[in-house]
Amino acid sequence: MKRKLFTRLTAGILLLIMTLTACAGPGPGDSTTSGASPVPADNEAENLTTGQLADYFMKAADDYHPGTGRAVVLEGFTGSEQATRLQMFVLAGRAFGELPVPTGNGRNTAPPAVDLTDAPEWSWSVLRSLSNGGVLAASDLDLNILVMTSETTSETSEFEPLSASAPKAADQDTPSADKEGTTAAPSTDMADSVEADPARLSDTMVSASEDNSGNDKMNAAVTQKDAEILAQRFFQAFGTNLKDNFYTTVNKSEMDALKIPADGSAAGGSSAVTSATNRQVHDLILEIVNSGRDYPQGSSEQKIRDFYMSILALEQRNAAGIEPLRKYLDAVDAAQNFSGLNAAIAQTVRELGNLGNGLFPMVAVTDTQDSSRKVMQLMTLTPMFSQEDYADSDNEMIKEYRASMVDQLVAAGESQAEAERLADGILRMEKDLAENASSPEELSSLLSQTNRYTPESLDQLMPEAKPSELIHAIGLKSDFLMEVFDDKQFAAFAAWFTEENLDLFQALQKIALITGYSRSLSQELAENHGYQGDDYEEAANEAVQSYLSDELGQLYVERYFPAESKSEIEEMVHLLTEAFKTRIGRLDWMDQTTKQEAIKKLDSLTVLIGYPDKWNFNSAEIRGVYDGGSYFSNMAASEADKWQNMVKGLDEPIDPRRFPMAAFTVNAAASRNTNTLIFPAGILQSPLYDQNASFEANLGAIGSTIAHEITHLFDDGGAQYDATGTVRNWWTDEDYTHFQELCQKAETFYNGYEAAPGIPTDGKETLSENIADIGGIACGLEILSSRQNPDYDAFFRSYARYWIKVAGYDTLSELAQTDQHAPNILRANRVLSNFQEFFDTYGIVPGDGMYVAPEDRIVIW
Ligand SMILES: [Zn+2]
Repeated sequence: MKRKLFTRLTAGILLLIMTLTACAGPGPGDSTTSGASPVPADNEAENLTTGQLADYFMKAADDYHPGTGRAVVLEGFTGSEQATRLQMFVLAGRAFGELPVPTGNGRNTAPPAVDLTDAPEWSWSVLRSLSNGGVLAASDLDLNILVMTSETTSETSEFEPLSASAPKAADQDTPSADKEGTTAAPSTDMADSVEADPARLSDTMVSASEDNSGNDKMNAAVTQKDAEILAQRFFQAFGTNLKDNFYTTVNKSEMDALKIPADGSAAGGSSAVTSATNRQVHDLILEIVNSGRDYPQGSSEQKIRDFYMSILALEQRNAAGIEPLRKYLDAVDAAQNFSGLNAAIAQTVRELGNLGNGLFPMVAVTDTQDSSRKVMQLMTLTPMFSQEDYADSDNEMIKEYRASMVDQLVAAGESQAEAERLADGILRMEKDLAENASSPEELSSLLSQTNRYTPESLDQLMPEAKPSELIHAIGLKSDFLMEVFDDKQFAAFAAWFTEENLDLFQALQKIALITGYSRSLSQELAENHGYQGDDYEEAANEAVQSYLSDELGQLYVERYFPAESKSEIEEMVHLLTEAFKTRIGRLDWMDQTTKQEAIKKLDSLTVLIGYPDKWNFNSAEIRGVYDGGSYFSNMAASEADKWQNMVKGLDEPIDPRRFPMAAFTVNAAASRNTNTLIFPAGILQSPLYDQNASFEANLGAIGSTIAHEITHLFDDGGAQYDATGTVRNWWTDEDYTHFQELCQKAETFYNGYEAAPGIPTDGKETLSENIADIGGIACGLEILSSRQNPDYDAFFRSYARYWIKVAGYDTLSELAQTDQHAPNILRANRVLSNFQEFFDTYGIVPGDGMYVAPEDRIVIW
């Protein structure tokens, strides 16, 4: 719940980066993404017979279990019957033989806790071995999950517990609850007596399909793609042949050694870099704080030290309680009408910044319809839950949400009864907004949006609220354009602005003040409403990184990012951009006019490496507690400064060289609006970039990442923006149709391939990222192709190594629902399978797991 509330709190920040496509990790939380689709039923694909399956699996398994006779694999089958899904698992299990025991955290295997009693007895022996080897998931055959007591799970604690009965939403809100409750674990009570006796196998097999005629999934027909995806699981489980599974084989020892920390969900890859960088930055802060030196007022070090120490001044904070917010809360109470409320909010915004605006928090963004100017995006009330959730009076999440609003209002000074009445009113408003939301399809069409308002046209929409009063009072001009995310929902919101609902808007403003500023007040307020735990050192570390990001960024870069690194990477960017142009020139599916537009986009590309040209320091006065300062006063001054800068920036031309993140951020981004790529120093370190590594190794990691970002400007979304960053159709109809056909092919290329057994990837949800991944490698190979004796092996290994990450089964499952990136294993394996250079380097041929036939490979950019 707290995490969801925080989403609203930071909505402004998230929207700032909406047009940036974050790439190193999961993107900004998108909880509306639809679930991953199951392995698609390909109607045209032929259903296979048991004989065809046996032949396929025996060939696939020849490196792992050579010499198995066809008769042994096919025992009990004629070979000519159409195979069922259940039979496919048994045939594969026989062909591959004994599986290695899963070890370490990085197996990408299914938890071996499948209850086989619904499957026919003759299949148990093989299925149990598949389950213990991690290649059979309960969902594969609609089997149940074995529920074990907690004692029996102790020795297998590396397995992520599966929640057998609790609904998903409840799990998310109480991430630790299912660890103590019902868990699933490897079967120990599946007695040996059920071991199939080969002698009676054939007898029982005949009746087996009848016994289970009710189980559609077990009896479903299977296609070649089903068989391939199953074979991939075995390649993954063995992890010993890079021709079958490159990622796991080359990274095996490193991944086996990784341990997921007790308080984390994954280890390795970007999460390791993030925590290492966080430590470096925190150490820098502590060095300054503990130096005992006398820093001049206004210096970066003085601001860092005094801000940090003011956060740790708990005695002072506790003594002040809610007092620092009092005058702002009182001003809200004193308002008799919307004009009064507008005046109170305007005063608050001037002193507390955007966090002081509970009704119309705003963020300046580049106008998608004319990239030379900015518009203000209004971050108005957005429903937290779905229409169905609001309609359900027993919904636990809503109850919890209501309770937290009541607590916030009580903290702001309301009585319990009044707080409850107001919370109910806000819930009614949110329910109405949820019912009036546009569909995702309506929202995704960038060219058809009409969500623009001037302050005056807003007044016409909500005459009693007179928002223009507020807008002018906070320093914006009357011809300024305001943009809303969903105009249909916004119209419903506007209808609530009547004098009789004034108290609800007063309540919203108070909630904004409490949620926005509690973290800087007493321990009680901070811990109850400030979205932090009780680790104040960490809170101080985070706040200083956020409010003094350029002060710290400059110190970070001086210590950790040598000038040679910057020039080396800039040279690589140049090579990659030229390679991309060469590739566009050669595309056979695009005509000359469209190519010219695409090349224009590349020519006007801005690439920012490491850190900004000009540091954008926090110009607020940061004062130490010894000097009358406090966490509240330092935070308020910083927020007000941010707000003033945003207002000032509205009149300035768009600067594509503006660096929108801290230099120590471990991420990379592409801004479609400004046609800019950003690589902060934080990500320009091992395993992505290493000054001592070979050119090929760096090209495989940082190079492919840079080219990935370049490709984003031409992915399914980026292709809608022209060279100036304006949304405009610059394609010929024919080329765009062809591009969409290629996108469709890329979608199918990923559909159903798995993060782990039973966790399929959705090719549509991950399309943009997959196009960018493939384009990234294509571009790197283009450069290598013109060099003398390039070391392809170093290039491919370095690329695969960058994706090292281990995560639990539940985490992988949740990511498949929410992450717009394919799982790491596919970001390596599926991508590399499109390139002949890769096959040539390792002698990969038809029949190998990594091999894809030329006509099925994806070549878009
Ligand atoms: Zn990306």
